[in-house]
Amino acid sequence: MNLIADNLQHIQDRIAAAARRVGRSPDDVQLVAVSKTVDLARIRQAIAAGVRILGENYLQEARAKIETLGNAVHWHFIGHLQTNKATAVVARFDLIHSVDRLKLARALDRAAQKQGKVQDILLEVNLAQEASKSGFAPEAAPELLEAVAALPHLRVRGLMTMPPWFTESEDARPYFRALRELRDRLAAHARPGVNLTELSMGMSGDFEVAIEEGATLVRIGTAIFGPRPQP
Ligand SMILES: *Cc1c(COP(=O)(O)O)cnc(C)c1O
Repeated sequence: MNLIADNLQHIQDRIAAAARRVGRSPDDVQLVAVSKTVDLARIRQAIAAGVRILGENYLQEARAKIETLGNAVHWHFIGHLQTNKATAVVARFDLIHSVDRLKLARALDRAAQKQGKVQDILLEVNLAQEASKSGFAPEAAPELLEAVAALPHLRVRGLMTMPPWFTESEDARPYFRALRELRDRLAAHARPGVNLTELSMGMSGDFEVAIEEGATLVRIGTAIFGPRPQP
């Protein structure tokens, strides 16, 4: 029995059911398998079972995995990102979910320019204004988006958020809804280089609620790979 393949099948079924409940197509929701702390053997099992996007939080850890597995999958960077890692991240990742400040956006733009690339990014929003989490305040979104849209080597594809932690997934719903509403407000003012189609929200404990509220990218780790070792 292959536990990862079983987990994955079960999650795909739940993703599809959640999408259908609200009249969405399951194809509009992409699964990002979060592989931080997961070794190559288990990642290979996930790829064999159909995973097409891997999400990593730490550049150092991701580097070795990307060197080995390379183009077999798409790589998304989902962790907190330091400005001095911009060059290395741009060189390796298809989508960066965690752009949370203008200084970082500028560093990514410069790195992308040097590498002759247009880097796809999401802007990370801290809806609950939690001090322990990254992301900009929703009130700052229009101004930040304006500034980032002016950077020619970045393409803003949407928004990302991590709501506060709840034992009941239903409690996260207002945050997911708030991200979608923020996206809708921002999208009402068309800007060149900006296409806010993606909403990255929902993790192992609450992805179904996130999909009901419009998630297009769900970031799922433990429900696929099992519990992570405690740091
Ligand atoms: C670790 C992580 C996840 C996955 O969390 P699980 O609860 O294991 O599904 C999703 N998003 C981010 C930003 C993470 O750091």
